Amino acid sequence: MPTSKRGEGRPSPTAVSAVGLRKSYGEKTVLGGIDLCIPAGSVFALLGPNGAGKTTAVKILSTLITADAGDLHVGGHDLAADPQAVRAAIGVTGQFSAVDGLITGEENMLLMANLHHLPKQEGRRAAAELLERFDLVEAAKKPASSYSGGMKRRLDLAMTLVGDPRIIFLDEPTTGLDPRSRHTMWGIIRSLVADGVTVFLTTQYLEEADELADRIAVLHDGKIAAEGTAEELKRLVPGGHIRLRFTDPATYRSAAEALREVTREDEALSLSIPTDGSQRELCSILDRLDSAGIEAEELTVHTPDLDDVFFALTSPANIPDQSEETVR
Ligand code: ADP
Repeated sequence: MPTSKRGEGRPSPTAVSAVGLRKSYGEKTVLGGIDLCIPAGSVFALLGPNGAGKTTAVKILSTLITADAGDLHVGGHDLAADPQAVRAAIGVTGQFSAVDGLITGEENMLLMANLHHLPKQEGRRAAAELLERFDLVEAAKKPASSYSGGMKRRLDLAMTLVGDPRIIFLDEPTTGLDPRSRHTMWGIIRSLVADGVTVFLTTQYLEEADELADRIAVLHDGKIAAEGTAEELKRLVPGGHIRLRFTDPATYRSAAEALREVTREDEALSLSIPTDGSQRELCSILDRLDSAGIEAEELTVHTPDLDDVFFALTSPANIPDQSEETVR
């Protein structure tokens, strides 16, 4: 569920904007001219499979590498003209983690405070506060190399927050984490947003985008294939259906004949019937089965989710051509 608290009435200023962002590596176009507009105080998720160009986008917007083209602004600063000002406004954590495994969590934090030129005492205070907030007090005196994946991510994020950035880039913040650590990370991200921080996150996980993001952009083939709220994206695909599973092939065949507009999965002995999810439609399907004396082994109602959207947008070749299988 979206968690940001945007100002009522007035539109928020833009935290990140990109117009015509392009990047190629040799012959390979990674970002083929994408546009992004992220209001301050919101969570934006750039969603895409491995290799889609998510990290490239984050690296460009956080000044680590340069774009080939594009009008790019972060925190109100022009990325090309004033990358220093952008750097001062943002925090970045992700696959290119800043955590040094040879020193302790606390030393990592103090190093960060030094880099931000915080006076010694203030640095110690900030480090202690953040270690507490991220549940790292017990581990603070141990070398970071001994931390679990979840702890390293938390330390990485804590280090980013030393400079109190108002815009944070999180590159795949939960990739490789177990479900518990993932939920902890989600809680942390929500608390940042509650503090008014803008979060730009990349993820391969639809559930993560659905849980956290106000707006989601699906990156595919170097382009934004679709952009909107999770609900808007779900409306793009018709995925709602009722699925009936049978164990007896003869009953399966009779059901396929009794029902109109079904998609057959002969091997699985399953039938899918498109539906708007209403009780009326469900009753009418059950009535038809009843009057034909057919009983399904299992009935499930499937409402469209981000998975449907994602697969529809990113792999049209994978969507089976259902026209031939549809019995009318
Ligand atoms: P994602 O973060 O979505 O997994 P990346 O942005 O890391 O994707 O990579 C996108 C594409 O760009 C991949 O095909 C990757 O191999 C390529 N790529 C990334 N960095 C470089 C580089 N420095 N040189 C050449 N190709 C690169």
